[in-house]
Amino acid sequence: MVQKKPLSIYIHIPFCVKKCLYCDFASAPGDAEQMGAYVRRLIKEIRSFEAIGSLYRVDTVFVGGGTPSLLPTFYVGQILNQLKKQYEFDPEAEISLEANPGTLNEEKLGAYRGFGINRLSLGLQSIHESELALLGRIHNYKDFLESYELARQAGFRNINVDLMSGLPKQTMDRWVKSLETVAALGPEHISAYSLSLEAGTPFHQKYSEGLGRLDMPGEELDRAMFHETKKILESRGYSRYEFSNYAKKGFECRHNMCYWTLGEYLGFGQAAASYLEGKRFVNPADPGAYQAASEKAYASFRSAPKQSQKEAMEEYMFLGLRTRQGISREDFSRRFGTGFPKQYEKELLDLYRQDLVEQSGGRIRLTDQGIDVSNIILARFLLD
Ligand code: SF4
Repeated sequence: MVQKKPLSIYIHIPFCVKKCLYCDFASAPGDAEQMGAYVRRLIKEIRSFEAIGSLYRVDTVFVGGGTPSLLPTFYVGQILNQLKKQYEFDPEAEISLEANPGTLNEEKLGAYRGFGINRLSLGLQSIHESELALLGRIHNYKDFLESYELARQAGFRNINVDLMSGLPKQTMDRWVKSLETVAALGPEHISAYSLSLEAGTPFHQKYSEGLGRLDMPGEELDRAMFHETKKILESRGYSRYEFSNYAKKGFECRHNMCYWTLGEYLGFGQAAASYLEGKRFVNPADPGAYQAASEKAYASFRSAPKQSQKEAMEEYMFLGLRTRQGISREDFSRRFGTGFPKQYEKELLDLYRQDLVEQSGGRIRLTDQGIDVSNIILARFLLD
């Protein structure tokens, strides 16, 4: 019998109550009619991949967005049912759903549990009302606390909370207060990203130049916040398993680990990315373009070119070195049928001599010092 390969599935739900001021994700407000039409297209797109169903066993599903918790609950059930019809699921599959405080209630959470969703990711960003208002978020901290409590009562034992540093006018004290308050609640996972100003967003317009720029924490404070995050969260039982992600033991996000270890995944919906059979392909972010592309998604995948060995090696290094587990020679050889190229051996030796990488248990990873200059380091693994 052919051994089924593990697969992760990402489902993109592009609807939000309103657009946050810093957001450049494929998301926008939508009415009931638009949501219904979108889910029908999504299910059609999922169905079109029927031919590969027997080859894979689903290890993780991530329903992200956007705000998937805004979708009428029965649609979430329909989507997961369709996946279960087409794929065998690992009995321990990690099934996550992204939710925003202010869009959850007891009924929804109970239904999610019934559909087999066992991980919830809550977009909090800050505990301070002024920061939430500045970001254009729809919720306040009280809404978050209510959602968090309801999720626990509904039986969710694996919850992530997103926090954001590097906000305009943010001080170290305020960032530390957000971190400490959330860590005291004890979610199993905390993602702590630094705000990035994305072109085309109101934030970019306001804070990337002129006087607004002065409201942004400088590089030094941003870096200090990054260091403090590790110190605080590690002292509270979380370990950093990727640059910006912290988890209690055994609660590292398996879905994200699939991305960082070059596992295979399929993305459905607007702007969703896939990596399958050595091919990378991305759906259009524009709703109209996605509609047209979704009709021929499977055919597009079949005709997509495979990435080159060189590209795959570079990605292996860029992504693997983001993680605490790092990379391994053995895994590299198994995957590529050859050892590290000479350039990698030379770079790794040089980085090792400067204490920027360390080696133990057959794995190579960036040191804390290395993480601080990761942009420069990772560029050294572009092959000539
Ligand atoms: S909730 Fe998330 S996806 Fe929606 S607008 Fe805000 S940041 Fe973007």
